[in-house]
Amino acid sequence: MPELPEVETTRRGIATIMPGRAVRKFQVYEPRLRWPVPADLPGLLAGQTVLACERRGKYLLIRFAQGTQIVHLGMSGSLRRVPLDEPRRKHDHVEWLFDDARFLLHDPRRFGAVLWHPANAGPIGTHPLLAKLGVEPFSADFTPAQLHAGVQPRRQAIKTLLLGGHIVVGVGNIYASESLYLAGIDPRTPGTRLSRPRCARLHAAILQTLGQALESGGSTLRDYVNAQGAPGAYFTLHAAVYERAGQPCPRCGQAIRRIVQGQRATYFCPGCQKR
Ligand SMILES: [Zn+2]
Repeated sequence: MPELPEVETTRRGIATIMPGRAVRKFQVYEPRLRWPVPADLPGLLAGQTVLACERRGKYLLIRFAQGTQIVHLGMSGSLRRVPLDEPRRKHDHVEWLFDDARFLLHDPRRFGAVLWHPANAGPIGTHPLLAKLGVEPFSADFTPAQLHAGVQPRRQAIKTLLLGGHIVVGVGNIYASESLYLAGIDPRTPGTRLSRPRCARLHAAILQTLGQALESGGSTLRDYVNAQGAPGAYFTLHAAVYERAGQPCPRCGQAIRRIVQGQRATYFCPGCQKR
């Protein structure tokens, strides 16, 4: 599944090309994504200039004077630049065509989305999909104190709280397991039990884990422009615990354990990670 680092890598890719260019044609080949692509979008966008390519959580925001396109890559989607004359592949559902560039949303499972938020509907942050998102991990709003204030009133397991995305966005399944391992925190620890110093360690671990993933994603940026990347794969190679059940912990040698929390697999070291 594309996680925040892959989405940010995609954003950086499209942000080098789309802004300042006018849409020659916006075409929808299959509107039945997670939600239907609005039928009036092709007419609305023709001739309009992209102002900026931004991101909020795992949503790409393509901004125009009249409003903002909200694009989600779903479970297995990708948004990539393709040559003007390349034939469309199966599962290429949506196309942005500029005079000298072309982008296709490829989404085999159709869990992705292309929505529209008109400028007169208010700030983009008020859109129902974005309104309840936690802070951005690389923003100044994400601090040890903010993390502590977010987890402290909640009894749920810290792994579940991180995945929820209401405190901080972008800590997906891989990153939650890896961050908790780095911070030495048992993923089953209730939020209420996490002290300030442990939250500070977790805060640093989240930034380190996501930062590393973004770096490896960034190194594939050139590939992204011409081909589909391998979301997550680069990072998983360096995982200390994720998908390593039964293998020795790199730090203490104990066998990594796999448990299921909220229907998602969690990996941790029972030796290094404390409640
Ligand atoms: Zn260990």
